[in-house]
Amino acid sequence: MEAGIVGLPNVGKSTLFNALTAAGIPSENYPFCTIEPNVGAVSVPDPRLARIHKHIETDRILPAVLKLVDIAGIVKGASEGEGLGNKFLSHIRDVDAILHTVRCFEDEDVTHVDGSIDPIRDIEIIDMELMLADMATVDTAISKAQRLVKSGDKETKARLASLEKCKAHLDQEKPLRGLDLDEEEQRLLKSYGLLTAKPVLYIANVDEDAILEDNDHVQVVKARAKDEGGEVVKVCAKLESELAELDAEDRNELLESVGLDEPALDLLARAAYELLGLQSYFTAGEIEIRAWTIPVGATGPQAAGVIHSDFERGFIRVEVFSLEDLEAHKTEKAIREAGKLRVEGKNYIVQDGDICHFLFNV
Ligand code: GDP
Repeated sequence: MEAGIVGLPNVGKSTLFNALTAAGIPSENYPFCTIEPNVGAVSVPDPRLARIHKHIETDRILPAVLKLVDIAGIVKGASEGEGLGNKFLSHIRDVDAILHTVRCFEDEDVTHVDGSIDPIRDIEIIDMELMLADMATVDTAISKAQRLVKSGDKETKARLASLEKCKAHLDQEKPLRGLDLDEEEQRLLKSYGLLTAKPVLYIANVDEDAILEDNDHVQVVKARAKDEGGEVVKVCAKLESELAELDAEDRNELLESVGLDEPALDLLARAAYELLGLQSYFTAGEIEIRAWTIPVGATGPQAAGVIHSDFERGFIRVEVFSLEDLEAHKTEKAIREAGKLRVEGKNYIVQDGDICHFLFNV
């Protein structure tokens, strides 16, 4: 799962990105972190990992990760190449979701590129740049499909029709996430990585004084998201960056002092999961207890494929038990003896929280 952080300059993207990724994930497990400075991983907090560990000894515990890409440089004119925008836009083509960070804090020491704090205007500037980038992509793709369609097959025709549907929507200055596309249309359009078709989670960045009670800026962002059927997570990036520097005890103390139960990361991770229709299953053994992210509805082989593509191809069957079974029977052996270890085949729909052991051919 990969999310791109976008937003105008000086809204707090880097502060948030650094705070979230400072949590310290052992990078040897996530090689992409060490390659690019604007790419980081945050672990998705999941209390079920500790519950599994109570019964299964292991060398290490690895939570699921959300890969974050900090996409700086989107300003008015970005889609035309201003401020290296185009290069940055290309970084978001591959992400699954967009975290649109919006400045909802007042601070005279931090200049706003457009001179005042106005979250709706800011959202619209970014949306417009993303729409312009999509228009350019769609126009190029339509020209190409028109050339091919004469000699082309049914698929080319269907692709052209889907692209034209997108163009008509974009021409009305509406982001594609509001356009109804069926599964087939989505499949035909997937490779274009259309930016405004991606689900958006708004992040309202506030000062400490608005952590508990929403200020006016947060309220307008929430109203906007509601209109779009979207979600907002409120964070104080500045506080998150302070929290990231502390050990667990001091962190809890600081959280408590501002009236929060958990860092924004936990909220954010949950909201991103929900937005994307994701869930976790676990593998548990002596070497590691690990959470893996899958879409709701994934089959046994698809779930295995998240670990390694060979596992998907060579999938034979999966042995499954639940956390409740583990807590009731204490050991895998006892679960097996109680007849609670299920053996499932290729069509099994993996459930949230399943503890899985895959059997496969290589
Ligand atoms: P970016 O350009 O969107 O990546 O913004 P930065 O993360 O670099 O933040 C720009 C400035 O705003 C920095 O000086 C931050 O310290 C400050 N800043 C970020 N978040 C907050 C916040 O919640 N409150 C206040 N007062 N300042 C913030």
